[in-house]
Amino acid sequence: MIKLENVDKWYGSYHALVAVTETVRSGEVVVICGPSGSGKSTLIRTVNGLDNIDRGSISLNGQAVHAKQTNLNALRAQVGFVFQQFNLFPHMTVLNNLLLAPTTLRKMSRKEAEAHAHGLLGKVGLGHKANVFPGTLSGGQQQRVAIARALMMRPKVMLFDEPTSALDPEMVGGVLQVMKGLAKEGMTMMCVTHEMGFAREVADRVIFMDAGEILERASPHAFFSSPQHPRAKRFLQDVAAH
Ligand code: ADP
Repeated sequence: MIKLENVDKWYGSYHALVAVTETVRSGEVVVICGPSGSGKSTLIRTVNGLDNIDRGSISLNGQAVHAKQTNLNALRAQVGFVFQQFNLFPHMTVLNNLLLAPTTLRKMSRKEAEAHAHGLLGKVGLGHKANVFPGTLSGGQQQRVAIARALMMRPKVMLFDEPTSALDPEMVGGVLQVMKGLAKEGMTMMCVTHEMGFAREVADRVIFMDAGEILERASPHAFFSSPQHPRAKRFLQDVAAH
């Protein structure tokens, strides 16, 4: 579903992604972990073209993401992206936040979009919040709305960039629960997260990055019980110490 081949990216003289090659199969859940500044966010942002690349190639469901002729809006309709900050429109109700993309970008009728939106809000446990404004919701609820919004276009892939990092601790569980549900349904997911419990329980594969490179890829069991790379060992020791 997602294929990165020899991807390099620089921010000025800083080498942010170093020869990254990776394949994510359809239905696979991959958790990307690593120290702050290691390039995790940059990596998933390149997958839907939010960040450009300087070398190599990325394809999504067979389409070259960074090719000149690619229609990025059409491609992004196949990819749901959930950010650390939820970026909901504060002046629109929850329902209208969900309706915006499908009724403007794609020709989904309002009736169909509304039915889909109500279904998704129910799925994230917010069926009763369709007509409120985002500002009246907790951070965790807003993030669940953001996930529902990302699902409106019936994406083939969901990308998560630290979706729980901005939340109060008691809000994290509800968001992870929704992500777990998606994984169970067979959604292809790439998740940047510090939630190692989620990685252990839900991921098919864990990728460890440091300084722009993928240094280790392993099953969660192998990664957490016997990390191979010294930097992965140190990272897990630091996580455990906290
Ligand atoms: P992570 O998600 O692992 O914390 P990022 O992908 O956000 O790491 O960042 C990787 C490195 O690239 C960091 O050193 C960061 O400072 C740098 N970086 C990220 N975005 C930019 C940018 N827009 N301009 C310059 N440097 C950036």
